[in-house]
Amino acid sequence: MKTGKVIILGSGPAGCTAAIYAARAGLSPVIISGPVPGGQLTKTSAIENWPGEKSISGYDLMEKLMDHAKSLGTEFISDTIVSADFSGRPLVLRSENETYETQALIIATGAEPRWLGLPSEAKFMGNGVSACATCDGFFYRDQDTAVVGGGNTALSDALYLANLARQVYLIHRRDEFRAEKTLADRVQEKVKEGKITLVLNAEVKEILGNDLSGVSGIKAAFKDGTEKEIPVTGVFVAIGHLPNSSIFANLLETDHGIVKTGYGAYKTGTSVPGVFAAGDVQDPLYRQAITSAGTGCMAAQDAARYLKEAGIA
Ligand code: FAD
Ligand code: NAP
Repeated sequence: MKTGKVIILGSGPAGCTAAIYAARAGLSPVIISGPVPGGQLTKTSAIENWPGEKSISGYDLMEKLMDHAKSLGTEFISDTIVSADFSGRPLVLRSENETYETQALIIATGAEPRWLGLPSEAKFMGNGVSACATCDGFFYRDQDTAVVGGGNTALSDALYLANLARQVYLIHRRDEFRAEKTLADRVQEKVKEGKITLVLNAEVKEILGNDLSGVSGIKAAFKDGTEKEIPVTGVFVAIGHLPNSSIFANLLETDHGIVKTGYGAYKTGTSVPGVFAAGDVQDPLYRQAITSAGTGCMAAQDAARYLKEAGIA
């Protein structure tokens, strides 16, 4: 059994920033870093919108944030929480092999990639199908690839792959992108250069291939009822993320899995007193590194105020 005054779940921008503020408030925070130390950004290449860094790799940025939190005395524990009990005080968290007790909890567990849900997608996962272009794009150098989606992730992935792959087919179910205009403009430049081909008003109906050599193509179904096979060896699914909140489903108020905040006198307070949430797990809209860090800062300050008012710190 391990005990803490403030436990933070997650070591992404939200968790690390919460730890920096909690440590500086003298709360000796503990971070349980979960399955992805450093969070989602460690899977991406250039970050160009983190203030003060014109361009930095996601991995390097998260190393800096984790180092900062560690330098202030934050204890990092490599573990993943699988269940929780908020019925009494202290709050209880359980992993496969350990039980944790804490007076205040900050949930900063982020969100997971969303998949298309096709049987052929599951069949070729890791053998031609990926949700991380920056992790796996290297394996498709000079090959033909497809990116599915129309948001910032899909367009960033398509641009990243356009520098590696022979051809990138960007497959989107509408004819308008959800992504920022700057990214859409850059994609259009690559279309003119012949590196990216837009496949619009189309959904992936099936991923084609065989067990031995992996993916050989996709079958796209268009809104007008037609279908087309596009030969590719790599398919990058970039259609959004689902909040990592399932362990709290029956414990906290959520909306489509997004943890609801704003309870009590705390902007980051959840429906259970003493439990706070920060970052993508509670954000239906912005989901950026900087907004996650911002809410991490808020959650640490809210937790500090809560502990003070409860006479604990
Ligand atoms: P995450 O970074 O997702 O971290 C979640 C943490 O929670 C992880 O450490 C994980 O291990 C931990 N965790 C999960 N479950 C548990 C559990 N049960 N127990 C304990 N710990 C757990 N944003 C930008 O601002 N600029 C960009 O250029 C940019 N590029 C992106 C590129 C890609 C490909 C993607 C997918 C996202 C990008 N984003 C970008 C968005 C950005 O990554 C997120 O907004 C940000 O990482 C969210 O931070 P977070 O701390 O809330 O969660
Ligand atoms: P997103 O913004 O939710 O976009 C998801 C895209 O996938 C949408 O275009 C959506 O289509 C499509 N889609 C969803 N389900 C689908 C399905 N079943 N089949 C086919 N297409 C489907 O997700 P995201 O692009 O991963 O971005 C997540 C967050 O991270 C955003 O807030 C984004 O701003 C941020 N991010 C930022 C950067 C950056 O700043 N450079 C880079 C990457 C991500 P519709 O448009 O038709 O709904």
